[in-house]
Amino acid sequence: MKIDAEKCVGCGKCASYCTMRGSIMSFGRNPKNPAKIYAVIDEKECVECCVCLRSGVCQQEALYQPELSWPRIVRKNFSDPLKIHPETRIPGRGTEEMKTNEVTGRFKRGFYGAALEMGRPGVGAWFRDVEKAAMALASLGVAFEENNPVTKLMTDRKTGQINPEVLEEKVLSAIIEFLIPQEKLPTLLEALKKIAEKIDTVFSGDIISRVEKDGSISYLKVFQEGSRFLSITGKSNVGLGRPKYRED
Ligand code: SF4
Ligand code: SF4
Repeated sequence: MKIDAEKCVGCGKCASYCTMRGSIMSFGRNPKNPAKIYAVIDEKECVECCVCLRSGVCQQEALYQPELSWPRIVRKNFSDPLKIHPETRIPGRGTEEMKTNEVTGRFKRGFYGAALEMGRPGVGAWFRDVEKAAMALASLGVAFEENNPVTKLMTDRKTGQINPEVLEEKVLSAIIEFLIPQEKLPTLLEALKKIAEKIDTVFSGDIISRVEKDGSISYLKVFQEGSRFLSITGKSNVGLGRPKYRED
């Protein structure tokens, strides 16, 4: 996002709409007219979410979105909720996860679907940190979700390496999605602790599981044994769709 210095009157109103907390804005003085101040966006920190522009707060129409080229366009693809991701054709950061599992059968018995949601409004996430997490997960032998925008940016899905051209790009948030065998859950939880020490952002972990035939939820025991925090206020799929697959 950019600000037209000729139109801007430096009121600072747009800063309160900035998903990166407005701290990415500074002020300059017009050299031809030092009495006139204008706001400047720190392009390194801006994630191109377009929230400031879309809010309509600027009465001077000074905010504008220039055409974004590669690799900066990655910021918008991940951060602007109205942008359809070019590779996945899905708006937003991830896939349809468990919401259509009764149709797709993507999460089969014996496996968990898992995700790391990296970054939040006010914090964001750099792809160099996304890569650190992806490489740590790859070393556990996870299978990255094919139709996920982070997976599409990987140059090597076995190592989790991401295209070096995007590593210095910052996004509002990014989701790494993968499958792991159920028995690897304790190892994954230990790996997440180590990932947290290496990266410069926040993340939450998601786990997607089928309900067992006896009605139990298999991962609960792992969390209880490790006295780990778990919120089960997630989404539940009650299986009312029309299955395209049949369970053995
Ligand atoms: S861009 Fe608009 S809202 Fe933001 S400081 Fe300038 S005049 Fe004010
Ligand atoms: S595009 Fe998003 S991150 Fe950039 S200045 Fe506007 S609100 Fe802030």
